[in-house]
Amino acid sequence: MLINTVVWFILVGFIIGTILGSFLKVLADRSLNNKSFRGRSYCTRCKHTLAWYDLLPVVSFLILKGRCRYCKDKISVEYLTIEVVMGILVGFLFWQSFKNFPFPISDFQFQLALSVQNFQFLVFGLELIFKTFFITVLTVLFLTDLKKMFIPDRVILPSIIIGVVLNLIITITKIGFLHYALSQSAIGRLLLPPKSDYFQRHVLMIAEPFLLSLLMGILIGGFFLSLIIVTRGKGMGGGDVKLGAFIGVMLGFPQALFAMVLSFLTGAVLSVGLVLVGKKSFGQTIPFGPFLVLGSLIMLFWGQEIVEWYLHIGR
Ligand SMILES: [Zn+2]
Repeated sequence: MLINTVVWFILVGFIIGTILGSFLKVLADRSLNNKSFRGRSYCTRCKHTLAWYDLLPVVSFLILKGRCRYCKDKISVEYLTIEVVMGILVGFLFWQSFKNFPFPISDFQFQLALSVQNFQFLVFGLELIFKTFFITVLTVLFLTDLKKMFIPDRVILPSIIIGVVLNLIITITKIGFLHYALSQSAIGRLLLPPKSDYFQRHVLMIAEPFLLSLLMGILIGGFFLSLIIVTRGKGMGGGDVKLGAFIGVMLGFPQALFAMVLSFLTGAVLSVGLVLVGKKSFGQTIPFGPFLVLGSLIMLFWGQEIVEWYLHIGR
């Protein structure tokens, strides 16, 4: 029974991932070609508008054997790859999140128990949306930066705002529930202002990660900006400033800092490697965005463990 639930959960995550994958591939392509995000999908060769059954992620590609239904031209295998990779990433996220899934409480004696459960569902869902959104944007930027060393403003700027707003909604939901839960009992009401400062102190505790994430966004964005100024634009681009700010806002403290360290380390190792095997000469730029994306994904999935491990060896 439990195994079945997990499998269903992962499957739903995989399907959502493939749908987002086919959507973000179009987003990345249109960003690189300066095309409008609006309008239906069409074949890039014969310009035929695609029907819904041509757009089923993974399935359509396999049924059509990777060719356009109308002009029989080959469709890039990139579409299939992105859809499957996104399916795996979101499926993995769902699998990881499953351990926090709020299972129904059997004791319904108290109205509060029911509310606690509804609240847990709400926060669980919001956090899942937040993380899925993060993965989706990271994958779009991975594609555009790897292909043309380009981080499109019309993707990254709205994403920063959406990330902050989602984070704020989660924070306000938690604070709202704390107030509701306290107001439900006589003892709880004693902890509300003006009788006590318990509520205010806990509001600060709940709001702290959100405020720190804003600070992380400003600090990391500012750090990249200062690198650009110091190196006079060599090495870093303006896109890295915005991507750094986005990662800071999404991962918060201290995960975002760890993501930066991981990105710089992997970037440095690969750059030296490429110079050694003669693929690149020294001083030649390679896009830094993909490393930021990889470092961020690692911290999104294993951030908790990595931070704990680090604190442990630090002692
Ligand atoms: Zn076609």
